[in-house]
Amino acid sequence: KSFKDFQLGQEIQEAFAGLHYSEPTEVQARVIPLALEGQDLVVRAQTGSGKTAAFAAPICEDIDWEENKPQALILTPTRELAMQVQQDVQLIGRFKRITAALLVGQQPAAPQRLQLKQKVHVVVGTPGRVLDHIQKGTLQLDEIKHVVLDEADEMLNMGFLDQVESIIRATPRARTTSLFSATLPEKIMALAKSHMQDPEQIIV
Ligand code: AMP
Repeated sequence: KSFKDFQLGQEIQEAFAGLHYSEPTEVQARVIPLALEGQDLVVRAQTGSGKTAAFAAPICEDIDWEENKPQALILTPTRELAMQVQQDVQLIGRFKRITAALLVGQQPAAPQRLQLKQKVHVVVGTPGRVLDHIQKGTLQLDEIKHVVLDEADEMLNMGFLDQVESIIRATPRARTTSLFSATLPEKIMALAKSHMQDPEQIIV
């Protein structure tokens, strides 16, 4: 398998080359083609599998640079993971000049509000702070086309289920929803069932 086998544009291919990703990891080989078709996915994959690029590349491919409102929302359990994901999105999207905002707690909200007034293509954050911005009207969701729940099992373990569900319900129905998790207990499958359309399950 090669990244060239995927329907990814030149900009994304070049970003992978620049990162010295010579061939896709297993999770990338299985996720990217389906995600590009708009398929909802439940993916069991560990950290280190290359899961971030697996969801970030199809999102970056689909981003319309001209649109001023956020088009993708990625939720993570921790600030540290959110920062990593934000950086990866911007690296993979750099030849499309894709910008990703970081909305995490224990940080002042004012700079985040300022950033949300600029052009932001992708929002990456932790559930509490993302919900704050939605409730205060500083994060608009009406152009969101893609929602990703990263490390979903950790988000539930940390007690974020209600917040995650409120956030998902605030996004447009016409979206793709994908969930990445190291484990797939019943609670995760129930979350997938309530918020996803015929999700395909991928076990890496
Ligand atoms: P992740 O599982 O997303 O946390 O990624 C784990 C690490 O693998 C990160 O440091 C990535 O930069 C790296 N990585 C992801 N995809 C590839 C690839 N196709 N080839 C080489 N390294 C990769």
